Amino acid sequence: MRKAVWITGGSRGIGAACVRVFAAEGWRVAFTYRSSAAQAEKLAEETGALAVCADASDGAAVQAAYAQTCGRLGAPYALVCNAGIAEQKMFQDLTDADWQRMLDVNLLGTVRAVRAALPDMLHRKNGSIVTVSSMWGQYGASCESHYAASKAALIGLTKSLALELGPSGIRVNCVAPGVIDTDMNAMHSEQTMRELADETPLCRIGTAAEIADSILYLSSDRASFITGQVLGVTGGL
Ligand code: NAD
Repeated sequence: MRKAVWITGGSRGIGAACVRVFAAEGWRVAFTYRSSAAQAEKLAEETGALAVCADASDGAAVQAAYAQTCGRLGAPYALVCNAGIAEQKMFQDLTDADWQRMLDVNLLGTVRAVRAALPDMLHRKNGSIVTVSSMWGQYGASCESHYAASKAALIGLTKSLALELGPSGIRVNCVAPGVIDTDMNAMHSEQTMRELADETPLCRIGTAAEIADSILYLSSDRASFITGQVLGVTGGL
């Protein structure tokens, strides 16, 4: 039986690359999206994946999306918590609402997805969870303190879950991308992107497919003795 994976935020960027890479490797794939229905349906058609609309900040919607996924694919072996938002603002300008929105999607969105998928993994005594943090969550980011804090929290969550779930045969790892060519970086000018590429030892920014490959690896049996790790995929930055 081919393994199944459930990916959050799969309509574009790194999530869409994950949908493509897992499908190409023969996995059965389901993914959530928030609002880009046309893009999601097109990707579903292209890859044979199941697209389900679910806002990561809505616990009931996430549970319903998981139930729909199980109905079609069976309980997924792997979960990829990719959905996330970013925003650039000086710390002094950040309101409670800004902090709440960031944590609600990036941290609690991951918590909700894990909460939905975990009972089946515990029942089977196997499974893999990959969270998507960020290099900025490890090193900090000027003018993105709420984003960096949410991504640092994901690392704490990943390591804690790895300790708690290891005895149940469930691996939990984290990918921390560097600067990747997706819509998330559309807020940066061309010059800023060039400067970031110049600062990167491999002299370029990364692709969504390169992040997806690392997530596929951590989700697969090839990483069967790896848990609680943060894999930086940063071109050396
Ligand atoms: P992106 O903006 O292209 O994609 C983000 C995805 O998350 C989209 O599919 C979007 O629909 C989904 N999403 C956002 N809010 C959602 C919500 N409330 N409910 C459901 N889905 C939601 O960005 P990306 O670069 O593909 O980012 C993917 C992940 O990688 C994010 O967690 C991001 O923080 C992380 N990341 C990206 C970079 C980068 O340079 N692009 C670097 C480090 C980490």
